Amino acid sequence: MPQPANTLEHRTELLLMGDEAVAQGAIDAGLSAAYAYPGTPATESFEYLLAHAKTEDGPKAAWCANEKTAYEQALGVSMVGRRVLVVMKHVGLNVAADPFINSAIVSIHGGLVLLVADDPGMHSSQNEQDSRVYADFARVICLEPANQQEAYDMAREAFDLSERFEIPVVIRLVTRLAHSRARVETRPPRAQNPLDKTPDPDSWILLPATARKLWRKLLDVQPELESYSESCPFNRLESASPGSVGVITTGVARGYYRQNLPDLPAPLPHLHIGAYPLPLAKIRALAATVNTLLVLEEGYPLLERRLRGILPIATEIRGKESGLLPLDGELSPDHVRQALGLPPRPRLAMAADPVPPRPPQLCKGCPHKDSFDALKLALTGYECSIVNADIGCYTLGALPPYQAIESCVCMGAAIGMAKGAADAGLHPVVSVIGDSTFLHSGVTGLMDAVAADTDMTLLILDNGTVGMTGGQETVLPSSQIEPLILGLGVAPEHCHVLQAHPRKVEELAAALRAEMEHHGLSVVIAVRECIEHARMRTSQERRRRREKRIEG
Ligand code: SF4
Repeated sequence: MPQPANTLEHRTELLLMGDEAVAQGAIDAGLSAAYAYPGTPATESFEYLLAHAKTEDGPKAAWCANEKTAYEQALGVSMVGRRVLVVMKHVGLNVAADPFINSAIVSIHGGLVLLVADDPGMHSSQNEQDSRVYADFARVICLEPANQQEAYDMAREAFDLSERFEIPVVIRLVTRLAHSRARVETRPPRAQNPLDKTPDPDSWILLPATARKLWRKLLDVQPELESYSESCPFNRLESASPGSVGVITTGVARGYYRQNLPDLPAPLPHLHIGAYPLPLAKIRALAATVNTLLVLEEGYPLLERRLRGILPIATEIRGKESGLLPLDGELSPDHVRQALGLPPRPRLAMAADPVPPRPPQLCKGCPHKDSFDALKLALTGYECSIVNADIGCYTLGALPPYQAIESCVCMGAAIGMAKGAADAGLHPVVSVIGDSTFLHSGVTGLMDAVAADTDMTLLILDNGTVGMTGGQETVLPSSQIEPLILGLGVAPEHCHVLQAHPRKVEELAAALRAEMEHHGLSVVIAVRECIEHARMRTSQERRRRREKRIEG
């Protein structure tokens, strides 16, 4: 459970996850507002903020329809001079890329910080993209904490940097840090900024004439960003004494290197990088003292690639791209150990009976099970059908025993892909999407389908929550989904709200079958609350009733 910050008596030590440390740092930096869309491994940061926002003087914090709307709301806060945090997972930044990239060109006023949590190893994601690439693309500062204390310190610093250079600042976490706890020393909080509308409205109008000037301004500030990076404490040249091999670490890789340090005959010349753009002078200073540079970074071989372009060809650069370390999956202390040429650590012998594998599956009693049973029944007898699905708990419908869906690409793609399959001539075409994903980015795809009266059936699995990330609130309640769909122009006679229930599988299947036979657009909303959400809700209600009785 997130630990709400104590606003009455400022605590100087907290036990925080990396996610929470960024949130606490932001709060202590004078945060006025925060926006997010749930996504592992970033969700806990925002839950911590929400807990804090409940206090009288806490920041305003709200879950949003998607990462793009979250980022745009943050821009509004910044424009009127206040400090704002946006939180998302790495793939969420694809959704928010448009406002994010353009926000580097406007003159950020109140500090705007983007916390983006990457998921190397894909514990709960569809790819391993590295958000440092986005920061580099936008030409803004990226801070990459190595531990929870740095996550807190960097969050505080990020707001100052954002206001100083008038750019958004990115904080990049990875799953291991986002989800692990350590002691964090906090500092006294700073007051929130007063409201102060940006003095020059032209600096927020990206018409070509002003955008050209603002783009030039962003380019002109780059040397200042580089000079900050050379001098900031997050980029430390720990030793530049000559040796044959030097090490550059970034983010959490520093901990993996230090963990193996006692087994090395002597510490290697070492540069740690926690702030980007890259500190080129420090990199060159290290490279001048060694023949080989070992690059230890989590995510893409971003640094390794850059080094190949800036260092003399005689310097051997070894890392992920050279084949020394794996290109995919999470970096680990054991990978680093191997790269350092150390023998493997002795391992405990495995127990004779290893724990049987437990593949992910829908919870017992999950409403999606009944919807999948109905869908499979409705599709019986068709020779060639397609079911395009989306991202959420229901993606588990791809696995046995259901095997009910055939695609899952990105948020909202179920509807666009189904329209494409129908346009290509396939019949029947079914799109399966959850209520939260539909509100996130399915609505726009449905508009295209409405405009063309596409021959497809959209099945919305409405469980009343964002189930996959732990039961956060959806931006609109279930009761507003049908009016929204009708408002978009779906024919009322082809829009149905039915129950997803073990005793109503045949009724749901019959409705789906009838709509598949209709050659036009249809929508079926299968409603039943997520069983986990229902459990949480009833226990919260019980607790509230108990508290009331005690008060009374
Ligand atoms: S969390 Fe809810 S929606 Fe997800 S599998 Fe469990 S019951 Fe189903």
